[in-house]
Amino acid sequence: MTSTAGAQSPEFDVVVIGGGPGGSSVATLIARRGHSVLLLEKERFPRYQIGESLLPATVHGVCRLLEVTDDLERAAFTVKRGGTFRWGTSPDPWNFLFAVSPQLSGPTSYAYQVDRMVFDEILLRNAARHGVDVREECAVAEVLRGPDGRAEAVRYTDADGESRTARGRFVVDASGNTGRLWNQVTSDRHYSDFFKNIAVFGYFLGGKRLPGPDKGNILCAAFDVGWCWYIPLSEELTSVGAVVHRSQAALIQADREKALLDLTGRCDIVADYLSDATRVTEGVHGQVRVRKDYSYATGSFVRDGMLLVGDAACFIDPVFSTGVHLATYGGLLAARSINSVLAGELDEAAAMTEFEDRYRREYTVFYEFLTAFYDMRQREDSYFWQARRVTSFGKTDLEAFATLVGGVASGDRGLSPEAAGGRLATASSDLTRAVAETGAMQTESGERMTKLFKAPVVANVMAEMNQIQSRGVLGDGSAESPVLPGGLVPSADGLGWVAPTMQPVEG
Ligand SMILES: Cc1cc2nc3c(=O)[nH]c(=O)nc-3n(C[C@H](O)[C@H](O)[C@H](O)COP(=O)(O)OP(=O)(O)OC[C@H]3O[C@@H](n4cnc5c(N)ncnc54)[C@H](O)[C@@H]3O)c2cc1C
Repeated sequence: MTSTAGAQSPEFDVVVIGGGPGGSSVATLIARRGHSVLLLEKERFPRYQIGESLLPATVHGVCRLLEVTDDLERAAFTVKRGGTFRWGTSPDPWNFLFAVSPQLSGPTSYAYQVDRMVFDEILLRNAARHGVDVREECAVAEVLRGPDGRAEAVRYTDADGESRTARGRFVVDASGNTGRLWNQVTSDRHYSDFFKNIAVFGYFLGGKRLPGPDKGNILCAAFDVGWCWYIPLSEELTSVGAVVHRSQAALIQADREKALLDLTGRCDIVADYLSDATRVTEGVHGQVRVRKDYSYATGSFVRDGMLLVGDAACFIDPVFSTGVHLATYGGLLAARSINSVLAGELDEAAAMTEFEDRYRREYTVFYEFLTAFYDMRQREDSYFWQARRVTSFGKTDLEAFATLVGGVASGDRGLSPEAAGGRLATASSDLTRAVAETGAMQTESGERMTKLFKAPVVANVMAEMNQIQSRGVLGDGSAESPVLPGGLVPSADGLGWVAPTMQPVEG
């Protein structure tokens, strides 16, 4: 921690570090309340990023609050009605369609598959349009804290290489997965032993498409040593990646192109879909990239005027396309808390508790869903799948999960690691049963899909996303109840918190 010299008044209400979806969201939603926001982004946009498959809560919930709906429509991204999975014991693919969720039916039961260079730039330029002072090619080196320990400024290098300082009443770190600034909030970050995977990915032209209305779906397919994603970004272009155990890292790094072709070739359905395709070898999409996609959560998301949002706070395995959702949702929560404090409407401690608890809860429900999903019995009997069974959970992972769940999701702070293990095992068998009852790829089979949405682990994961989406579409959150006992609810404009008029819902 570094102290700034002398007490000066802040030039900005808020300084945001990073212009990805998390940073652009928090900055815009604070600027919409008339506060002054500086956003510092290291790169010049458009810049490449992985994470192309979105969820409806981002598109119809947060993006509506950001007022970018028309921009997204103009970009003509591929429409995604859901996910198609070759996963579990069934040899046939099955669907998870947003439309069959009772809350997500109707005209907003879709999301987009996006080129992140385009999507992230739309969000960043929109932030500037809403009054955010966006400065690109400005890399933040340090967060400066005052004598009382409160974050009050950042030191950064501007586009001309000059070192500068910018002061804010709050600092938000949304610098993604590569930065180290998060450790100015806490030194504690828990990496899951369980989901230590590595991904290798690239782009193909001319790949096949899923049949009929599902052609825009993400396809996720398990194979002997991992799983593949297949994301149709346009009629021609497909994003394809393989996720395997990190023990294969050296092999993959030695020859990425070969590793990508070998691994996708081992995954039957993806190999078939790519049989007439050619890999893109030039331009931004021509590189084969590698990312370690460890799942992690930072011990605290907020400390003394500094908040963590997006990958800076937590990350969860990419199989459910949750990264951009968690980043934009974290941005929304942070904006509500900061707006309420800046307006003098809420005590800072209460506002920050609401931010941290809701965010951690959302991470937790996805973690539970992820565990249940990886635990579904595969046809493949390999180390990769054996190591991801609930029964293989180590003590530290169970302890970490018990802390997450016990602290926030259930309100039961005394949850033991043993009870956490039982909870994960139940979630897993619920999900396996629901998928078996849902059956194969019956696209329009609403009755069968309903069984999937009734599985508690699925219902939990959809609950808050449905609320955000309903608010985005209907514009009014007055019927919302607190997510957590004793918690707050969104204000009428969706940009702050207020005390609830309704009692918390039990369970
Ligand atoms: C293999 C893989 C597949 C994935 N697939 C999906 C998917 O299908 N769907 C999905 O939703 N998510 C997916 N994700 C996750 C997704 O990529 C991230 O969760 C998401 O990009 C997080 O957004 P963010 O705003 O937190 O960070 P980022 O998008 O990383 O943005 C952070 C920004 O901060 C800037 N920055 C960094 N350091 C500094 C600094 N010091 N100063 C100033 N600026 C800085 C960076 O240049 C960057 O622009 C995937 C991730 C992986 C690894």
